[in-house]
Amino acid sequence: MKKGFLSRWICGVLVIMMILLSACSAKSADTLTFYAMDTVISLSVYGGEDSCAKIREKAHELDGELSAVDEKSGIYALNRDGSAVMSEEAIGLIERSLRLSREMEGYFDITVYPAVKEWGFTTGEYNVPDDERLKELAEQIDFSAVRIEGDTISLPEGYAVDLGAIAKGHLADKAKEILVEDKVDGAVLNLGGTVLLYGKKPDGSDFKVGIADPENTAAYFGYLRLGEGVVATSGGYERYFEKDGKRYIHILDPKTAKPVDNGVLSVTVFCAEGAKADALSTALFVMGKDMAEEYYREKDGFEYVLLTDGGELLISEGLSDSFSLNEAYNYDIKTIKRDKG
Ligand code: AMP
Ligand code: MG
Repeated sequence: MKKGFLSRWICGVLVIMMILLSACSAKSADTLTFYAMDTVISLSVYGGEDSCAKIREKAHELDGELSAVDEKSGIYALNRDGSAVMSEEAIGLIERSLRLSREMEGYFDITVYPAVKEWGFTTGEYNVPDDERLKELAEQIDFSAVRIEGDTISLPEGYAVDLGAIAKGHLADKAKEILVEDKVDGAVLNLGGTVLLYGKKPDGSDFKVGIADPENTAAYFGYLRLGEGVVATSGGYERYFEKDGKRYIHILDPKTAKPVDNGVLSVTVFCAEGAKADALSTALFVMGKDMAEEYYREKDGFEYVLLTDGGELLISEGLSDSFSLNEAYNYDIKTIKRDKG
């Protein structure tokens, strides 16, 4: 069952208030909370003039261009017509998405949209497609088929794109540009589960970011103490439905067009760039715990925390000292090392 708008809003605000609790000093921070990109966005900026308002404007602008469900958006026109002239920023983000898809071996794939739609995740009118239909849908997922020529994007018949797994990360990157330009001292921007940590808090202490308990999203199972960067979390609990006792989540395996069902409950990624953190939290979720571990050993430039339904908490070595488990949880913690030896 999809959570109601009101309960998602209340839940989102609670979550954000808790995340910002230690970072936000009412005396010195400019704060702003609003709804955009299908989520609650909450900004807290130290030493900025009107950076919050500029970031809100950027969020609404991106929403208008990148939303797959807004009939006025560029992405909507692309998906409807199979080809569209798009803004420089949208072209840049699609190019970036395709590069990240290659790097992440197709586990993150923006052409997953026809399947997202068929399962009902865009409307809440949920449906379990039969095997034959799933085969057809899986054949229509392939990021390498997206064509970019100048300012025009085109897709093969039946294809459609969804930037939902990367848009908030992209907003984090754009918001950071605004913060740099405005020469702010520091900021914590919670963009619906993708959190940008920028500069320094007034007292110079680390930022503290909670990781939601998938079983009770108003609570945290633990938190990370971090410096600058972006923290992105993907979780099945964010959107799902249940039918005949089975849960179907909104993160799909591009190879099968089916909701992921691999025992992962949530993946949190920490890295320097928002778009990469966001795409990677989705990709590692799809990979599952063993493949995510292998991927971590092979690649640089990110750290992660992965929780399974068996209560295993895998924490990559770069975060193991930054992580604290809350008392109420007794997860089985394992540190993942990059060097095999
Ligand atoms: P996130 O919450 O960042 O993990 O993004 C999940 C959203 O991205 C879903 O609600 C879908 O709209 C879309 N999506 C689902 N599966 C994938 C995937 N494997 N690759 C890219 N986007 C996906
Ligand atoms: Mg993502």
